[in-house]
Amino acid sequence: MSPIRGPLLLLARSGRVKRLVSTMPVSAGIVHGYVPGEDTPAAVQATAGLVDDGLRVTLDYLGEDVTDRAQADATVEAYLDLLRELSLRGLTRHAEVSVKLSAIGQAIPDAGAAKVAIENARTICRAARNAGTTVTLDMEDHTTTDRTLAALRELRQDFPETGAVLQAMLHRTEADCRTLAHEGSRVRLCKGAYAEPAEVAFTDKVDIDKSYVRCLKVLLAGQGYPMIATHDPRMIDIASSLASRYGRAQGTYEFQMLYGIRPDEQKRLAEDGESVRTYVPYGVEWYGYLMRRLAERPANLAFFARSLVSK
Ligand code: FAD
Repeated sequence: MSPIRGPLLLLARSGRVKRLVSTMPVSAGIVHGYVPGEDTPAAVQATAGLVDDGLRVTLDYLGEDVTDRAQADATVEAYLDLLRELSLRGLTRHAEVSVKLSAIGQAIPDAGAAKVAIENARTICRAARNAGTTVTLDMEDHTTTDRTLAALRELRQDFPETGAVLQAMLHRTEADCRTLAHEGSRVRLCKGAYAEPAEVAFTDKVDIDKSYVRCLKVLLAGQGYPMIATHDPRMIDIASSLASRYGRAQGTYEFQMLYGIRPDEQKRLAEDGESVRTYVPYGVEWYGYLMRRLAERPANLAFFARSLVSK
């Protein structure tokens, strides 16, 4: 793993650096490559384009670690507005939403935070269902995994279509995959984007990849709907072979990739008959998201630095 990954992930949580660079508009430089816009119309336009290309979409209204109630409520409103517009444009058959619990209340420093987050998630799930679509709960760093899975269990009582994310880099994830590989369950498997300590996570790329394959086996052999979120050509090949080995027809699982990363591969897989979903983040709170993408691809740092200088 790149030696610069850790420092970049630390910077992703730095309020000072965030304030320094966040005045840059989404339209500037490298940000635009990963985030199509700042508001609902831009998100809906990007969705329509991807759907025209034969892709499905999941949309993330950017924001995380929100510590005040008003901002959490504003995030809920943004999702409701988005779902209304997607529905009006007839896009909810192809587009769902991804939600971070820390953006809608889980990070408020208050004993009732978990309850606020679940109530807000419930509001978004209800709107998604009314619009004919679903919600997937994004997964954040390992300190939030138990709370997020507890929220998932609670939400699934009323909204069993709600999806979850598991991160192959965590030691616990193979066991979590077994728990969630049941009928009706939707699980997005990713490698994990956060800086995690060796006590809870694999830190070597080879070990993370081996864990990813073990988790793929559990999910593809199980009864749920696996959502295979990776850009890694090796993982994609292995997933395709395992899908055949476990008798999975195309459409009983899907591939997922991030907006702006390997777009040609996304289209190629879709043309081969696979279900492919693009994760589309939008909004002004792009800083943490961009830093995690740069940590995965330090080669892009020079472009980022240049777009800052030309601001
Ligand atoms: P890597 O080993 O990082 O990369 C494999 C190859 O992909 C690279 O060699 C390169 O060719 C290409 N690539 C990877 N990153 C980039 C980049 N930034 N720019 C250009 N090319 C690149 N993580 C979470 O912790 N929680 C979540 O909820 C979550 N949701 C996700 C949803 C989706 C749909 C996806 C695709 C990822 C999500 N992630 C999430 C991020 C994930 O955990 C990884 O950090 C990220 O996908 C990079 O891992 P990789 O599997 O692509 O493999």
